[in-house]
Amino acid sequence: MAIQAPQARYVTGLSGTLIQCLLCPRNCRIPAGARGKCGVRENRDGAGLLPYYGAVTALALDPIEKKPLYHYRPGSSICSVGFTGCNLHCPFCQNWRISQHADAPARYLSPAEVIRKAQSAGSAQIAYTYSEPLVHTEFLLDCMSLARKAGIANVLISNGCAGPGPREAVLRLTDAANIDLKCCSEETYTRVLGGDLPAVIGFINRAWEMGVHLEVTTLVIPGLNDGGEEIRRCIDLIRGISPHIPWHLSAYHPDYRWNAPPTDPARLASIADRAREALSYVYTGNIPGEINDTSCVHCGRRLVRRLGYRIDTGGLELKGTAYYCAHCGNAAPFRYA
Ligand code: SF4
Ligand code: SF4
Repeated sequence: MAIQAPQARYVTGLSGTLIQCLLCPRNCRIPAGARGKCGVRENRDGAGLLPYYGAVTALALDPIEKKPLYHYRPGSSICSVGFTGCNLHCPFCQNWRISQHADAPARYLSPAEVIRKAQSAGSAQIAYTYSEPLVHTEFLLDCMSLARKAGIANVLISNGCAGPGPREAVLRLTDAANIDLKCCSEETYTRVLGGDLPAVIGFINRAWEMGVHLEVTTLVIPGLNDGGEEIRRCIDLIRGISPHIPWHLSAYHPDYRWNAPPTDPARLASIADRAREALSYVYTGNIPGEINDTSCVHCGRRLVRRLGYRIDTGGLELKGTAYYCAHCGNAAPFRYA
């Protein structure tokens, strides 16, 4: 049953019953009876309301590598929660059935129920994922606060398009994040996706500065973001923050409204090779049979083998909350806390 729609935060009144949502860079001006561009934040008689607070479209126990997160608690399972709606409208969205349809089938859960689901699944972490969690920032903050109290880690999988206020509030409660860097063109972000590149860069920067475990994902789409100059700018951007941030290059396949041919595995591999000249950890995804290993920088032995979602962490040792190479004993580049 739907929980009574709570009041939205990050809203300001304009004239009469017109309101403006300040949650993301779209800054929607929403007349009474309408919703913002994400489809989930509503103006009811001049009040900003959240009719989809707690509307959960998906709840599953996934390998953490599926998020993808390769350097955070490798080999573990994570309780993954999905919502409806998104502030972007990527024409190649692989989750468009829930991201572009606020009224996708959902059940309503309270934040306490989400925590209990994770606990009963035996998961020490929750991922907010599948569509865009940030458009549900109020619900996210309520879940994240409870999770923290219960000793459960919060993992955010997001497009990173948020205003400074919600960004800071969410990141303060986030333990690990994977943020999409869809391209490095402001024009593509604005015109094709409905997003905002400076906001995404700001989100990635702040996550890093605030000590959140951070990984970045780029879906490589032929003709949209796979040009040499575009890739160079993405590499420079990540390297400028830290060359040790894992970068996931995912193969695209046609979906929703985008019909370009799938990413050529050879092209993906060549982009990854180029990126490895500047970044320490570059992985390719969505390629059947691919192997993505991480080796020890000290002795060169394998720490983790990833064959699809079959994960072998036999080369790693976890002592307390720190990971070490099981062969040479040196620190390994993985985070537990
Ligand atoms: S969160 Fe939704 S309603 Fe708010 S500004 Fe962004 S798209 Fe508009
Ligand atoms: S940001 Fe993600 S969920 Fe939203 S439309 Fe784009 S690909 Fe889909």
